[in-house]
Amino acid sequence: MISGNITPLARWGLPMPGMFLCAGPCSAESEEQLRQTAAGLAGCTLSLFRAGVWKPRTHPGTFPGAGAAALDWLVRIREEFGFPVGAEVGTPQHVEAALAHKLDLLWIGARTSPDPFAVQNIADALKGVDVPVLVKNPVSPDLETWLGALERIHQAGIRRLGAVHRGFATSHDTRYRNAPLWRIPIELKRRLPDLPLVCDPSHLCGRADIVPPTAQEALDLLYDGLMVEVHHQPAEAWSDAGQQLTPAQFRDMVAGLVIRKESGGSLSYETQMQGLRHTVDEIDDDLVDLLARRMEIVRAMGDLKRRYQVSTLQPTRWKEILASRLAAARKKGLHEEFVSQVYEIIHEEAIQVQEEPMFRAADEGKH
Ligand code: PEP
Ligand code: MN
Repeated sequence: MISGNITPLARWGLPMPGMFLCAGPCSAESEEQLRQTAAGLAGCTLSLFRAGVWKPRTHPGTFPGAGAAALDWLVRIREEFGFPVGAEVGTPQHVEAALAHKLDLLWIGARTSPDPFAVQNIADALKGVDVPVLVKNPVSPDLETWLGALERIHQAGIRRLGAVHRGFATSHDTRYRNAPLWRIPIELKRRLPDLPLVCDPSHLCGRADIVPPTAQEALDLLYDGLMVEVHHQPAEAWSDAGQQLTPAQFRDMVAGLVIRKESGGSLSYETQMQGLRHTVDEIDDDLVDLLARRMEIVRAMGDLKRRYQVSTLQPTRWKEILASRLAAARKKGLHEEFVSQVYEIIHEEAIQVQEEPMFRAADEGKH
């Protein structure tokens, strides 16, 4: 477990315009492309200008990034525009090359962070080095894997350490390229309140039009910053063309962002909020009560099924339940995806409750 010893963002030695603010293209394509993008961002206060030097691509034969040559381009961007510069690293060789060019920050991508061997190799290459490192969430929705990667980097002695939430690959069809599953970064924040948490709305959304509201949503959830893909000509980008903002769109977005605070600070806010919270508490009591009653009935149904040798799974009934509950939910203005996930969890629990007696028999057999 990471215990303390995490440097607050304010002491990372990077510009912090009220938050950690990173912008730059998905991939470093050419020096000219980096220069044009940086020129579009000139005058912005950025904590970091980003560019993917080595790209972990799904398919071979797609653009793998310009490689080590792009490190020289980034160094010249830093000299010309004054932006700190950073890139993704996936191997110890990447780390060495990036450090040799004195990059201001390194990050570990979503395809590398789930691999303990790869992360350990990177951690070993970082031993004794004092550079800021961000760890992106692994593609699969698994908080422990994300924590494990952060722990390996922390154990290497990195104290300017942060996490980037870029969404998770799921089978559910959502408006996002990668489902946000906000509950996972919220749980990370609960466990490691001192760890800076940055949102990457670009990879999360996969489309430029919903990047600004998603960035605001992250700030509403008290994130410490943003990493945003910006390209001077998004439509021409060699990777992630659909999700990159133009420098002008990025400026507009930043101008419109509101940094919220945790507390309203006024008596009127506190009184109104207390009233609403009280009602929510009562509703939650009822919800738990209803769930308990539902499971009690489910258990009785399980006993009946067993006595009459009827299968636990009743596909026709399950189909009817889902359809009727979704129709009811629709009428109440609830999101179908939400209610369908709730019912899938309830159904799975009901199956488990009905199967429990068989496991009890197995357990008793052991003693
Ligand atoms: C990136 O930031 O360039 C990138 C590849 O993102 P991710 O690792 O989140 O997919
Ligand atoms: Mn990208």
